[in-house]
Amino acid sequence: MDIIFECSNCGQELEVDESAAGSELQCPSCSADITVPDSSSKTKSDESSAGKPAIPAPTPTPQAKEPPKKFSVPFSSEPTKELIKKPQKPLEVAAKEDERMLRVKTIRRADCKELEKDNFDQVVSEFFQQVGEEHIISSHPVTYSTVDSVSQKLVTDYGLLILYRG
Ligand SMILES: [Zn+2]
Repeated sequence: MDIIFECSNCGQELEVDESAAGSELQCPSCSADITVPDSSSKTKSDESSAGKPAIPAPTPTPQAKEPPKKFSVPFSSEPTKELIKKPQKPLEVAAKEDERMLRVKTIRRADCKELEKDNFDQVVSEFFQQVGEEHIISSHPVTYSTVDSVSQKLVTDYGLLILYRG
């Protein structure tokens, strides 16, 4: 740990190892003979030199922290005020947005079969038209197992999972 002190003659800030505490040295700035202060005397050096820097250190820290805290309060309250104001004006818009909830539609190919006729593509196309292209978020192919109505056997079929707002 270093001892930082000012030259008693010229005021130059000097830094020496604490092992030099109490010893005389020549100021590198003004060449005056100065004595290194043992602000924390060697006998107490372990306790007070460790304690002294520790005490001043936390002291500036809260002082430095307090102003940011004071700043952070108005900073956080301003956005809050804006957040409160915003919903007040566009209530109708917000309500309309709420109507468009995130929804999922799963179209299974088996559900689109009528009298052996596969209407899957048509059903999907109609659904896209109904919801509106701009409200479709994504669509994902899905496969599932089902019992075929004709053969009564377990078959794997496919469908489409559509994520949309409506
Ligand atoms: Zn000096």
